[in-house]
Formats: sequence, C-alpha cells, structure tokens
Amino acid sequence: MKDITQPKQAGTTSFPCPQCGKTTIVRTRHERQIATKYRCAQCNFEGPN
Ligand SMILES: [Zn+2]
Repeated sequence: MKDITQPKQAGTTSFPCPQCGKTTIVRTRHERQIATKYRCAQCNFEGPN
C-alpha cells in the first residue's frame, strides 16, 4: 500500500513547489501558525508568498 502523499496529521498540507513543481513542500498546521518559511531544494524558491 503506497501512501507517500497522504498527510499524516490533520491540517497538514502538501503541494508542489509553486515555482518549479519538482519538489513537494509539506507544511503542518503548526508550521503555518508560526509562519515557518520553506525553501525548495531544487530552485531555492522561498515562501510562503
Ligand atoms: Zn522549486
């Protein structure tokens, strides 16, 4: 059973990099609440924005 894209926690979101689409960015509800930034490993896109 493959379950690699399913978020483990309620409120967790995952989405492809808005710029290059090559990586999947995962953000938990907690990370959104504290406004943690993410950076794409492929294109160095930094968000959220
Ligand atoms: Zn990217």
